[in-house]
Amino acid sequence: MNKLIDGYRRFREDHWPERRDVFEQLAHRGQAPRTMVIACCDSRVDPTMIFNAEPGELFVVRNVANLVPPYAPDSTYHSTSAALEFAVRVLQVEEVIIMGHAMCGGIGVLINGEPAAGRDFLKLWMSIAEPARQIVLERGSADPQADCEEESVRLSMNNLMTFPWISERVAAGSLMLSGTIFDIRSGILKKLQPSGEFAPV
Ligand SMILES: [Zn+2]
Repeated sequence: MNKLIDGYRRFREDHWPERRDVFEQLAHRGQAPRTMVIACCDSRVDPTMIFNAEPGELFVVRNVANLVPPYAPDSTYHSTSAALEFAVRVLQVEEVIIMGHAMCGGIGVLINGEPAAGRDFLKLWMSIAEPARQIVLERGSADPQADCEEESVRLSMNNLMTFPWISERVAAGSLMLSGTIFDIRSGILKKLQPSGEFAPV
């Protein structure tokens, strides 16, 4: 952890003084982010860095393969749905952005099967995206990994609309949903268009 402690010290010396006022205001007034981002846990995909965002701007939840499960209020633990509820109903964010990415290990598990050490939770979690895998298989894609990365974002966009308090706000025009894919090889961000295709922004 020593390297990280060094980084923390540099943050305190170089960045904290100039950000101090921002943090004090955020602490005093509370957070009011306008945007929620659902991104992958992948260490190469940091939404705050990619969007060049400031503290207080983005409410971020990260999970394996940036998946949104369908609305299922039951007695099990739903961390992503809880984050959605807090952002959409309590904080009243105006936009939810799903950020997929190229070379996603979670999507790799879906395409190639889970590693032996990933069977307690990973397999069940990735089964959320099974409908996306089926679409890609039926299509006979030349690049199933990349195709499935895009298809799973489309699936998660549809799953967002199964949450009644999301679909209501979308219908009322007070909440926007966006799908994106970040290519870690080129640094290019693509956005899901009304046509259903992804295009560079
Ligand atoms: Zn990933």
